[in-house]
Amino acid sequence: MPTMRYRYRAYPKPAQIEPISQLFGCTRVAYNDALALCKAEYEAGRGKPSFAELSRQLTQSKKTKERAWLADVSAIPLQQALRDLDRAFRNYFDVATGKRKKPRGVKKVGSPKFRSRHNHQSAYFTKAARFSVRQVSAKKGFVRLPKIGEAEFRISRPLPSEPSSVTLIREPDGRHYVSFVVEVPEVEAKPAKAEAIGLDLGLEHLATTVDTNGQVTKYENPRWLRSKERKLANLQRALDRKKKGSKRYAKQQHRIAVAHRKIRETRTHHHLQVANKVVDENQVIALETLNIAGLKQTRMGKSISDAGWGQLVSLIRSKAEARGRQVIVADQFAPTTQMCSVCGANCGKKALHIRAWTCDSCGSRLDRDANAAVNIMLAAGLAESINERGENVRRQLAGAVTVEALTRLELVPSGY
Ligand SMILES: [Zn+2]
Repeated sequence: MPTMRYRYRAYPKPAQIEPISQLFGCTRVAYNDALALCKAEYEAGRGKPSFAELSRQLTQSKKTKERAWLADVSAIPLQQALRDLDRAFRNYFDVATGKRKKPRGVKKVGSPKFRSRHNHQSAYFTKAARFSVRQVSAKKGFVRLPKIGEAEFRISRPLPSEPSSVTLIREPDGRHYVSFVVEVPEVEAKPAKAEAIGLDLGLEHLATTVDTNGQVTKYENPRWLRSKERKLANLQRALDRKKKGSKRYAKQQHRIAVAHRKIRETRTHHHLQVANKVVDENQVIALETLNIAGLKQTRMGKSISDAGWGQLVSLIRSKAEARGRQVIVADQFAPTTQMCSVCGANCGKKALHIRAWTCDSCGSRLDRDANAAVNIMLAAGLAESINERGENVRRQLAGAVTVEALTRLELVPSGY
């Protein structure tokens, strides 16, 4: 059965804030101590200690005067912090030695960094920690955590099954969340409208899709996202003018964290809608690997859009898995924006502002994004495999991306 994360806002009682802070502090120290040890061992030429060694080291340190307080919190999240570190190191080494490819959408996998209390803080409890969940009404639940007690959370959607783990999270804006890992039964998906779809991610529009029926759809970005992002940049600049460590600085940091959260919430809500529609309506979904080279031209748009695209792609993937749909990724180096999808001619690079262009070879007038979406489907090998079954889908698709055909365009607004 597919597993998913279900996240809810939590409202710990004032008396619980202190033990939660203590728990986060301890997981951070366990992580940082282990990282320091790894670095020292590595520099001494002895290689990275194994997880078992790190675990032994943690147990030892609880017996020292300086670290005795690590024994005051549940041991499970501390163990998990070591496991996180171990995984971070393995990823780093695997990528550095070429054993594994960089994950999609990640520019660089750096060596593990020390954790700071200013970032997102979390503690992970497995079944072994004996946490328990209790629902008292349709909207209200409690999760009992060792040494913290019962923390209230708001049930925004029903939990589908008994959770196998829970992560307690404190965001930089001070809000708390609980994130449960639950098994979700595969949903009997409605029959798809189209056999397959190609999806192109963009800045002008969040995404443009073309399905095998020739339907072109453009998904708008939330309209006020840009102004919120500009506001965030202003807040950031104001922070730079304040004295580090001062009260005003801390206040400004909080404002920034709140602005970040609002942007994140709006974007996530919109991405969920887009992902649901794409997955509901299509049996096979072709995506491109996230190639963000073209976006360097727009500095601010870049960092923010990167994060947004990664999220949309992972939502589509997880929803597709839950509903028995297939996701295929197109070759990263396919010239999806340069090629004419009608005749296959490569017409060279196009500047970002060019929204439509004419093919030198066949004279078709093409919509930039719709053309790219078809090319993504072609690069994923989809149209060909459908063609083998005797349907001339390619021609049908090619016909869909010319500017004249866009009269059949569906524009999906963001609702914001
Ligand atoms: Zn052409």
